[in-house]
Amino acid sequence: MGKLPACAFRQERKNEQTIPNMATKKEPTTGLRKLMEDQLADIYFAEKQLVKALPKMAKNAGNADLRAAFEGHLQETHGQIERLEQVFGSMGLPAKGKTCPAILGLLQECTELMDEFGDDEALDAALVAGARKVEHYEIATYGSLSAWAEQLGLDDAAGLLQETLEEEQGADEKLTGIGEEVMGAAVVTDDEEEEELAEVEEDSLAVGKSKPPSNGSRIGAKSTANGNAKKKAVGKR
Ligand code: FE
Ligand code: FE
Ligand code: FE
Ligand code: ZN
Repeated sequence: MGKLPACAFRQERKNEQTIPNMATKKEPTTGLRKLMEDQLADIYFAEKQLVKALPKMAKNAGNADLRAAFEGHLQETHGQIERLEQVFGSMGLPAKGKTCPAILGLLQECTELMDEFGDDEALDAALVAGARKVEHYEIATYGSLSAWAEQLGLDDAAGLLQETLEEEQGADEKLTGIGEEVMGAAVVTDDEEEEELAEVEEDSLAVGKSKPPSNGSRIGAKSTANGNAKKKAVGKR
């Protein structure tokens, strides 16, 4: 903007005020920088949604390691939000979110899995699958963002985004390991679990105690991992 008479300047300011956002920016951002700002706002929104969702997932997890993983990742997610705020700050921007339809869909899917498998042996396996989808979405976003930051010479931002990328990769690996652990439990059918519990009751009556094993479903998992069990599980639907 060159020299303007006072009245024209006033006019200009008036116009700016009708378009929020533009008033704080000296020139419009374009290209990769604009894309980076857009995707930062997207993932900032997504991380905030995850802070709300992770406690519910932890609460629904039956396996203690899975619950601890969700609780641990909730703490990490708080740190990731702070890191994003630092990234915005390093670029001279206020931290601002923008609706991310993908995370809403992924979390909707997690909610549906918790509803559909709420009483099922496969609930933990379902939670792992839903959560891994979320991690993969985040990994894709942070991978792009850190590469763009590097390309744009935003070294501080690149470092922060890389740190979070590695955290998300760590979370996915941890969930993958727990997935191996919990999928065995998901093979047990209702019929077999009832038989198993009946046996336990008989045993405990015999010794005058009533205490089922803490991890009965996993003990049963190996012996029932056969075609017959699978057929019964399918027939249940
Ligand atoms: Fe995250
Ligand atoms: Fe998104
Ligand atoms: Fe899906
Ligand atoms: Zn994550």
